[in-house]
Amino acid sequence: MLHSIMGNAIEINNVSKIYTKVKALDNVSFSVPEGVLYGLIGPDGAGKSTLYNILTTLQHPDSGSAFVAGYDVVKERKEIRTEVGYMPERFSLYPDLTVKENLEFFASLFGVRVKDNYDLIAPVMAQLEKFPNRRASALSGGMKQKLALGCALIHRPKVLLLDEPTTGVDAISRSEFWTMLRSLRESGITILVSTSYMDEAALCEAVALIYNGTIVEKGTPSELTAHLGENLYNASADQMYPLLEAVRKLPGVLNSYTFGATLHLVTDATFDAALAYRLLSESGLENVKVYPAKGNIEDLFIRFCVSDK
Ligand code: ADP
Ligand code: MG
Repeated sequence: MLHSIMGNAIEINNVSKIYTKVKALDNVSFSVPEGVLYGLIGPDGAGKSTLYNILTTLQHPDSGSAFVAGYDVVKERKEIRTEVGYMPERFSLYPDLTVKENLEFFASLFGVRVKDNYDLIAPVMAQLEKFPNRRASALSGGMKQKLALGCALIHRPKVLLLDEPTTGVDAISRSEFWTMLRSLRESGITILVSTSYMDEAALCEAVALIYNGTIVEKGTPSELTAHLGENLYNASADQMYPLLEAVRKLPGVLNSYTFGATLHLVTDATFDAALAYRLLSESGLENVKVYPAKGNIEDLFIRFCVSDK
């Protein structure tokens, strides 16, 4: 039975999952509208793979409910499996099979032929087509990811579930992979992609941030970061470690952490950037700079991790 879920391809309501010692998911709720490229962003151990296991019917939630493409993940497992393309976190390909054989194998699982939906995967397969007889185990990391994506799409699923597809992949392949996701989204497929790379959050139309099994924020990336800049400053100097020590003593600084080659300072209303500049320079640091920062998703996470302690 198809459930009416008001244009949502994925709907998750109060899902919890407890392992013996760990509450991996704690009352997780969010929904992914049809046709949207949605990011599940969170560090290692946040609960991402557990949620994917539930959405792909491999595990049951302890409580709560979830629907994918209108089907109940507990009661309608068969239906879900035909509607969903899934790329698990750990490698899904058969290493001893060739590129061509992997595609044929996944097509046969779903009772389709490789050529039936080849138009959909052609952009993904563009480079791989040059070596159809290479074994999957002999492909580079980036190529493996593309083949795995091709295999996950071979039956033209409505919903694509990708669990950390770019982890451990080089920067260029990572960027190519995201370009492909955006073009797949243009063809109407709903995509839920998880990542622990905070910079990838900005490439999604909407995101849910997950930390310790809890959804801590959800919305568009710009909504989430809109107010971060109000009390956030960049500080830099030639001597990084002494700078880190010195900024902690500045009036109005609540927290500080390294951010690329600079520091981010979380401040309260009493913070005065000109005074901070003067105090840091007087303490012997060279080339001091203090200026307002534009916050991003990483800053949001740091707030949650700090407030947790
Ligand atoms: P992520 O994919 O975000 O790294 P996971 O869903 O794999 O997070 O894990 C969430 C939490 O549940 C972690 O603390 C992890 O150690 C724990 N966990 C995951 N799978 C199991 C399992 N099969 N048994 C016990 N604990 C588990
Ligand atoms: Mg995981």
